[in-house]
Amino acid sequence: MSSSVIDFVATEQRFGAHNYEPIGVVLSRGEGVWVWDTEGNRYLDCLSAYSAVSQGHCHPKILAAMIEQAHRLTLTSRAFHNDQLAPFYEEIAALTGSHKVLPMNSGAEAVESAIKSVRKWGYEVKGVPDGQAEIIVCANNFHGRTLGIVGFSTDPDTRTHFGPFAPGFRVIPFGDAAALEAAITPNTVAFLVEPIQGEAGVILPPAGYFTEVRELCTANNVMLVLDEIQTGLGRTGKLLAEQHEGIEADVTLLGKALSGGFYPVSAVLSNNDVLGTLRPGQHGSTFGGNPLACAVARAALRVLTEEGMIENAARQGARFLEGLKDIRANTIREVRGRGLMLAVELHPEAGRARRYCEALQGMGILAKDTHEQTIRIAPPLVITSDQVDWALERLASTLTQDFS
Ligand SMILES: *Cc1c(COP(=O)(O)O)cnc(C)c1O
Repeated sequence: MSSSVIDFVATEQRFGAHNYEPIGVVLSRGEGVWVWDTEGNRYLDCLSAYSAVSQGHCHPKILAAMIEQAHRLTLTSRAFHNDQLAPFYEEIAALTGSHKVLPMNSGAEAVESAIKSVRKWGYEVKGVPDGQAEIIVCANNFHGRTLGIVGFSTDPDTRTHFGPFAPGFRVIPFGDAAALEAAITPNTVAFLVEPIQGEAGVILPPAGYFTEVRELCTANNVMLVLDEIQTGLGRTGKLLAEQHEGIEADVTLLGKALSGGFYPVSAVLSNNDVLGTLRPGQHGSTFGGNPLACAVARAALRVLTEEGMIENAARQGARFLEGLKDIRANTIREVRGRGLMLAVELHPEAGRARRYCEALQGMGILAKDTHEQTIRIAPPLVITSDQVDWALERLASTLTQDFS
């Protein structure tokens, strides 16, 4: 590392809370699938800011929409109407087939908003006794970092010494419909689940799981809340990951790519009266639904569909997965994924995934390890076949090295 890179890293270390452990690269520019560091080295971004830059870095049309809107009006608060919110509602509702929309900022805020809304629905519509609402969640979930959310995490790092936590959550194994059936009580208001567990290491449920989940939720009047903050908006090769399962959630959470990485924008979408229970003064956010966020999100959604990014994710994801499966390396335990949400799980004897990510950095690829043994691969959805092949060559040569 050059002295300037060391300065940036040392300054971060000195002044910043050490709540991250970044790979040792300092980025200063991005375009499409590529990012450049402060020394001018180019890398293929295989993380996409955890799927927030699905549309590619600095997409020119989203950039133009942001600049144009920033010149006109950025923030009104919801005390007044603005001329971007209504078209944003219309466009996202039409695209996703939703009836109601609640705009927020971060993903965690969308999750918190959904929890509040389904509880309220439980008391006011389902008739659950006040204070008794239960929400079922899955082991190894990741739904964000707020206090409410980390309270039902099963990851010790996420929870330890952050309590006391809010009650009202029950944890069941992911992918086990019988466990869901057994956990439902008359006070259950919702089942909150990721279609594919991203942070847990790109864990796909068994085939047919979500069909059973949908039936159980419907039969018991339990709201199915799908956290599509990472899987949504084309990442898995469909607009929403639920479409692979042939089901519809009652409540869908979006974030990350909803702004193409320009700005924090999230949303709760519902196709029933869950959001209808919220009355003026009962929930809100100063920045939620602001005109800059709405203009950026509208452009981010438009380019996703107009430029065929969802179809491209399906096509290139299949190519990438096939290519990974063809790599003959005894470091690899399993490759898995759907669309461009992919993971390579290493054998425990192969050494930590972090070593491989550092080696990949040396070959011009930025990827991120998760849970010691897994390398996650999630490039922007604009990746081309040639770029997939370029990445596969480098992955093959890195994965055949032995870092144990
Ligand atoms: C990233 C993520 C969140 C949290 O989003 P933030 O914007 O970081 O608060 C929630 N759920 C899932 C599935 C995520 O991947």
